[in-house]
Amino acid sequence: MVNFYELNEKTVNKEFKDDDYGNYVVGHKDKNGKFIPTYVGKGVLKDRLTDHLTDEYNDDLFTYVKQSEKAAFKEECDDYHDYKPISEGGTLKNKIHPPVPKGEKCHRCDHMGS
Ligand SMILES: [Zn+2]
Repeated sequence: MVNFYELNEKTVNKEFKDDDYGNYVVGHKDKNGKFIPTYVGKGVLKDRLTDHLTDEYNDDLFTYVKQSEKAAFKEECDDYHDYKPISEGGTLKNKIHPPVPKGEKCHRCDHMGS
């Protein structure tokens, strides 16, 4: 069961310590209660989600998982390819493929780090 949190300053500050690292998905629920993801990302969770309070990727809800940088990179690629950007028929506002570490490759497509 996935927990959803309201995307606001209070929740973000309550949920995370300063250096918690992991993946997150921002989105909202449609009129049928289905979660619609609109942005996927990874990084220092408190910092990233605080940015999204005021940037173009702001939305109603978020969900997250804390994990290592390596695991977070893999999961971000999965989220990106599962939910897909709007340009590929999905719902994500992500404009580019998640950054790939130098010398590594996305396990879902041929995107390489540089
Ligand atoms: Zn990929």
